[in-house]
Amino acid sequence: MAERDTIVVVGGGLAAGKAVEGLRDSGYGGHLVLVGDEHHLPYERPPLSKGYLMDQDPLENVFVHPPGWYEEHDVDLRLGTRAEGLDVEAHTLDVGGERIEWHRLLLATGSRPRRLRLADDSGAPVAYLRTIEDSDRIKQTLRPDRRLVVIGGGWIGLEVAAAARTAGCEVTVLEMLDKPLLRVLGPEVADVFVDLHDGRGVDLRTGVSVVGSERRGERAVVTLDDGSSVEADLLVVGVGVEPRVELAEAAGLAVDDGIVVDEHLRTSHPDVFAAGDVANAYHPVLGRHLRVEHWDNAIEQGTVAARTLLGSDESYTRLPYFFTDQYDLGMEYVGNVGPEGYDEVVLRGDVPGRVFTAFWVAKDRVVAGMHVNDWDAIEPVRRIVTAGKVDLSALRDAATPWEGVVG
Ligand SMILES: Cc1cc2nc3c(=O)[nH]c(=O)nc-3n(C[C@H](O)[C@H](O)[C@H](O)COP(=O)(O)OP(=O)(O)OC[C@H]3O[C@@H](n4cnc5c(N)ncnc54)[C@H](O)[C@@H]3O)c2cc1C
Repeated sequence: MAERDTIVVVGGGLAAGKAVEGLRDSGYGGHLVLVGDEHHLPYERPPLSKGYLMDQDPLENVFVHPPGWYEEHDVDLRLGTRAEGLDVEAHTLDVGGERIEWHRLLLATGSRPRRLRLADDSGAPVAYLRTIEDSDRIKQTLRPDRRLVVIGGGWIGLEVAAAARTAGCEVTVLEMLDKPLLRVLGPEVADVFVDLHDGRGVDLRTGVSVVGSERRGERAVVTLDDGSSVEADLLVVGVGVEPRVELAEAAGLAVDDGIVVDEHLRTSHPDVFAAGDVANAYHPVLGRHLRVEHWDNAIEQGTVAARTLLGSDESYTRLPYFFTDQYDLGMEYVGNVGPEGYDEVVLRGDVPGRVFTAFWVAKDRVVAGMHVNDWDAIEPVRRIVTAGKVDLSALRDAATPWEGVVG
């Protein structure tokens, strides 16, 4: 694109931060605007439920680039400003009373926590976790004399539970399904997380629904469908996120569980792209659209979108990857079990001792794999999932080295 051109990146998160970096790295020398409605420079969210929440990582560590980077790279930063009024035919975007004309635009508007009305409407102390301010607020409650109820046994809920237990709080986790993380991991591996939290004294209640919530003094009381109730100083709600599609939707772009993009991350308008949590991208390897709500995807899609915005015809083919840290358990996961589920889980290593690998097999192909506390295994896990078709009997035989499973 020419020097006089303008590219606008909407959203001040990780995908946006990596996209502006990628644009300058690729030699784009034109006007580059980054619009974000938070007041912070683009930052990474994983520490907000881990090291930062536990007061182990300082705030400086969460930012994608140091403060001087944006000026050095001539990025026109518009923080604390919501982008509104996107007109894709006119190629304009309304930002804080100004109309910006653009040639190409990237939507990296991310996602927001799904709200639980019954908790919000009760007037009880309720927190969600998405921003630095959310993390600061929860952090204030992490003291030994405090009690937390976490609604939702997903990644965020369990990480908050781990941080709170580590700080000495009493913690109850309420999960609607029979096990936490059941939809992602299946029952075999979900049990690892049940044991982990049980062993640390978390009161994990599964197969229960919250049917009521009220404020009692400064505290919250939630009522469950089994008739019991739990009291807490703070209710933390972690029941998933929803993509922030409103700008795209109002502009008439195709939206279906996120902004629909092709394998080049291009939306239904040829000059508009989307990346990160908000993008429901066609994945050529998996052969279907997929919206991924993870850190690695924001980094990699932001970087690839920078190149496709500049005219490259490269496709985004990276397999989904995510990680978690809870107490002394670290885990990395690669791949994706499709809507049809899996037929078998192959476990290798010491599952009770929490040093092992797991592979999900569907129709004789490995579709996902992970390791727990076995850090050298991530590369073989990635190779095996990428290959898909491997010698399954060798995989099932824990004595066979990785080279015997995949070349
Ligand atoms: C507490 C927490 C812990 C996490 N831990 C992990 C983890 O351990 N591992 C992992 O893989 N993933 C983790 N994730 C997920 C990961 O952080 C997200 O996938 C990633 O942040 C997505 O980046 P993004 O840039 O797409 O979106 P976001 O980070 O949501 O950023 C989007 C930004 O755009 C802004 N915005 C939206 N609309 C507008 C508008 N109209 N105008 C201006 N600005 C706008 C938003 O306010 C936001 O700042 C975690 C997430 C959270 C919240």
